[in-house]
Amino acid sequence: DHRDEPLLVVRGLAKHFGGLRALNNVDLAVRRNNIHALIGPNGSGKTTLVNVLSGIYKPTAGKIAFADEDVTGAAPHVLAGLGLSRTFQNIRLFRSMSCLENVMVGAQRPGNDLSDVHRDLVARSLAALHFVGMGDRADDSVANLSYGHQRMVEIARALAANPKLLLLDEPAAGLNLTEKQELVALLLRMKGLGLTILIIEHDMPLVEQVADSITVLNFGERISDGQPEAVLRDPAVISAYLGE
Ligand code: ADP
Repeated sequence: DHRDEPLLVVRGLAKHFGGLRALNNVDLAVRRNNIHALIGPNGSGKTTLVNVLSGIYKPTAGKIAFADEDVTGAAPHVLAGLGLSRTFQNIRLFRSMSCLENVMVGAQRPGNDLSDVHRDLVARSLAALHFVGMGDRADDSVANLSYGHQRMVEIARALAANPKLLLLDEPAAGLNLTEKQELVALLLRMKGLGLTILIIEHDMPLVEQVADSITVLNFGERISDGQPEAVLRDPAVISAYLGE
């Protein structure tokens, strides 16, 4: 039984772009059913880390284990098949398609059983849309949605793959206060489902409302890690943000 083991374990991770060390010797452990926030000033390496974790970039050095399996350097579709879903900082939906069609794209997770494909996909995609509060907009074109609603559809698309780990890259960016509170409620509902969530987020009040643990990056290095109360009072974290 691995329930107490972290779902994602990163050791000594580095990603260099030529001479630029975007990530250096980063350790990270994301515990099952936690909401784990990844924070840090602009340019600190957060998006690079999520891109390495989701297989878009191969690490220069280090190891990544997901659900007790070594996945270092694995391709995005392999990681998706193992249960890792992500959203992007800039929403990536097909604007000419309906909400339901967009979510169905995400529900076709590699490795999913292909029998009864269509019925199953529609059901799971509708369930994901209902879960994020967009069930009544299933047939609407994404182009007609507010930005906040597009964000919800994007999260539904990631959810429809039935992931173990959800990587969210700045989901609150561009949302108004009401939408941010809806996002907080959704994050807590997803945690209630048993999901594990790694969230990059700049909005500190939001992070404080949802995070079980926080990892802080600065100049590609981990400068603090642990429970929110301790991390947010850490002098190293305070001075990193003051320098921004
Ligand atoms: P954050 O998400 O914390 O703002 P990023 O991960 O986007 O930080 O960037 C970290 C550093 O890596 C920055 O200096 C950025 O310019 C650099 N970087 C990110 N992606 C690339 C890339 N594809 N090629 C070269 N440099 C990159």
